[in-house]
Amino acid sequence: MGCIFCDLSVTKKDEIVLENEHFFSIYDDNPISEGHSLIIPKEHVDSFFKLSPEQVNNMYELLGKMKNAVDERFNPDGYNIGINEGRDAGQTVSHLHIHLIPRYRGDVENPTGGVRHIFPEKADYTKKSKK
Ligand code: AMP
Ligand code: ZN
Repeated sequence: MGCIFCDLSVTKKDEIVLENEHFFSIYDDNPISEGHSLIIPKEHVDSFFKLSPEQVNNMYELLGKMKNAVDERFNPDGYNIGINEGRDAGQTVSHLHIHLIPRYRGDVENPTGGVRHIFPEKADYTKKSKK
């Protein structure tokens, strides 16, 4: 079976925002906030941990450039940056991608804990009474 992210460089050629040697970035089709973007390797790889140091450098460079592009266009107040690594961690497309998720003041009632919200009841550890 084909891989939708391997096909993107053809199917979404005109929607690629930025690219460098090994990576490209696009806006997510189902954004969870305005400017939600994906940083994707051009070559198929399913895991962040399989990238070479050179690819990691390249990924970091494009992540920074995309952050600047999103800052300029959407002016967010913060970001969550994440990778769903493996199906049990929520990965639905088995071609590596970094989610760059802009955050806006007041977009949720209590943002404390950020990525900890994968377990909502455990997100805000600052409220836990320390015995
Ligand atoms: P994950 O669940 O971490 O594998 O994330 C997959 C992400 O890819 C989701 O946020 C989808 O909205 C996004 N997505 C899936 N297909 C496309 C597509 N053709 N173009 C842009 N984003 C996509
Ligand atoms: Zn692929």
